[in-house]
This record gives sequence, structure tokens and C-alpha cells, in this order.
Amino acid sequence: MEGPQGPRREDHGTAPCHRMTVTRHHESKCPACEHPINAAGTIDAKDTYVAEPGDITVCYGCACVLVYADDMSVRLPTTKELVETPPEQQAEITDLQKKIKLLIDLFPKGPSEPPS
Ligand SMILES: [Zn+2]
Repeated sequence: MEGPQGPRREDHGTAPCHRMTVTRHHESKCPACEHPINAAGTIDAKDTYVAEPGDITVCYGCACVLVYADDMSVRLPTTKELVETPPEQQAEITDLQKKIKLLIDLFPKGPSEPPS
């Protein structure tokens, strides 16, 4: 099935999926904080969507909104892209940003760094 932004794998409900779908791609750096980004995960654990160019993502280093370019590197969104983001998606993005900011506050050096 083709979604509005390209191919999309459908969950046919034959087995519940408890793990999010992760799309791995080559590493690029967040233009705002230089956090390395090499994967995208879905917000909904049951969603099997695979990230592709044009999709919006949120940086786990600084919680800024990013967009996947044609080569799956990340860039800052244009004003037009932000304005044209559907309200439901804007709400999901804002909620995800809040969660990421909480994680950043809890693990300022990143979750893989031992506490000092
Ligand atoms: Zn960042």
C-alpha cells in the first residue's frame, strides 16, 4: 500500500507487535546540536512505518524538529514544512519533544554514559 509519502508496510494483525519499527540509515549529524543520527523509530509501538525522505523526526540530542532529506541525512525544516504539518502530527511532535527533553534532563550525558 502506498501512503501519502511512499511505501508503507501494513500490520495485518496476525501477531501483536510490541516493539517499535526502527529504520536504520547512514549517520548524519543534527544541524542544531551535532548529535549523531542513524536511525528513526515510530512513536506508536504498533506502527510499522519505515522512515523515508520528507518525513519529520525529532533529535534525541536536543529535541529539535528535523526533516529527512533525499539521502536520509537530516536537516532543519523549512517554515513552509512546519506550517503545513497537520495539527495531529504537530501535537505528536510536541509530545515527543517533551519526553525527549525529560530524558535529556535525566541523562544529560546521554543514556549510555555512566553517572559521574
Ligand atoms: Zn539535535
